[in-house]
Amino acid sequence: MKRIFASLNVAEVHHARNLLDSVGIRTVIRNEMLASAIGQLPFTDCQPELWVLDPQDAEPARRLLAEGPLRPLEKGNVWQCGCGEIQEAQFTQCWQCASYRQT
Ligand SMILES: [Zn+2]
Repeated sequence: MKRIFASLNVAEVHHARNLLDSVGIRTVIRNEMLASAIGQLPFTDCQPELWVLDPQDAEPARRLLAEGPLRPLEKGNVWQCGCGEIQEAQFTQCWQCASYRQT
């Protein structure tokens, strides 16, 4: 499995999941329940996360989330790191590779 998306907004994670579902990419959501622990744990440890079951789906899934129907809807809310991870706009640093936002 591969983590492809994380957001403090559970609805966004579900939206991303539905989107990938619609093109046949199977995913699971992790940490959904932990979101209620935000404030007690480092928030990066309790963000709801979207994982693809098949690692080969990770790239197409990321591309879809970055360029697909999610984008107009969530415009301004996400950015994509050079490593391919999708980040929310309020973060200036990638949670995956720790590089800073370039754009
Ligand atoms: Zn990165």
